[in-house]
Amino acid sequence: MEFLAIVVIPMILLVLGAGFLVVSQVSSFVQSGSHNQRQHFSNIIIQQYMVQIAMAQSQMFKRGRELQVLSSRLALSNQELARLNDMRSKFLSIVVHEVRTPLASIKGFSELLLKRKVGEKEVLYLNHIVSASDQMGRLISDLTDLAMIEAGKLKMEKAVFDYADIARDILPGIVINAQKKGVELSVGEFPAGNRVNGDKFRLSQVLMNLLNNAIKFTPAGKRVELTMRREGRFIAVYVKDSGIGIHPSEIKRIFEKFYQAQYQKDEKLRKQGWGLGLSIAQEVVQAHKGEIGAISPGLGKGSTFWFKIPS
Ligand code: ADP
Repeated sequence: MEFLAIVVIPMILLVLGAGFLVVSQVSSFVQSGSHNQRQHFSNIIIQQYMVQIAMAQSQMFKRGRELQVLSSRLALSNQELARLNDMRSKFLSIVVHEVRTPLASIKGFSELLLKRKVGEKEVLYLNHIVSASDQMGRLISDLTDLAMIEAGKLKMEKAVFDYADIARDILPGIVINAQKKGVELSVGEFPAGNRVNGDKFRLSQVLMNLLNNAIKFTPAGKRVELTMRREGRFIAVYVKDSGIGIHPSEIKRIFEKFYQAQYQKDEKLRKQGWGLGLSIAQEVVQAHKGEIGAISPGLGKGSTFWFKIPS
């Protein structure tokens, strides 16, 4: 028993201690091995990322150079476009100038001949010449306005005046147009005492365009109404017709330069214009800080054109 206590138990304890030491050594060896392996893998992944970053950087650099080349090409094309635009505006104003004078002679001499004793056929031909020169004259003046708008030179010559004058000044001519076409023209009462600071000539031109369009696009026997009224700080003008109407998809587009409604099928009516009047009217109204627009219940159901100017 004593032998057991003095020799065997310490021996067992010694063997157990040694075994424990060996196990702990081996496990720490194994652990440090797997740690190194993980470190190695992480290094490989980091290296792969670094390679990818380097590749992305070189791609970015390449794209940056390409962008530089493209933007310098774009700058050149912009310069070229500006030059061509300038040439187009100059060409337009030269043509307009060169046509205006001979046109005035053609019209003037035709009217002179009409005053002389000429035969029935001659009167008919001369009237054709006069109305064709009038039509060309309108185109020339629209093109002149367009050239001025594009050059930023359409200046408003503002003065204070009674707003109803824009209608009073043009109505005699409009009444004749309506009578010729067989369209009934109804003119509402003008509200009194509305003084406006604006370009009377240009605003009359806007109203004349709306009224002439209304008469043009309204068949004989139908009606065009002009009304003017105060709406808050604005003075508003409405031209309502019972004509061919406008498709809802084109209500905004008809104010674009050279745009003529595509849903309207009357070629004869289309040929009487160039799609410029409303775009010029819009410029004039906007230059007065006003608004312009049109509403129509649809094709064949008439339209109402309106504009408002602050006063
Ligand atoms: P245009 O000289 O061709 O009449 P506008 O700029 O004055 O040029 O008008 C543009 C287009 O708007 C016209 O061609 C027509 O299609 C449409 N339009 C203008 N006024 C009317 C109207 N009162 N009724 C129907 N359509 C209209």
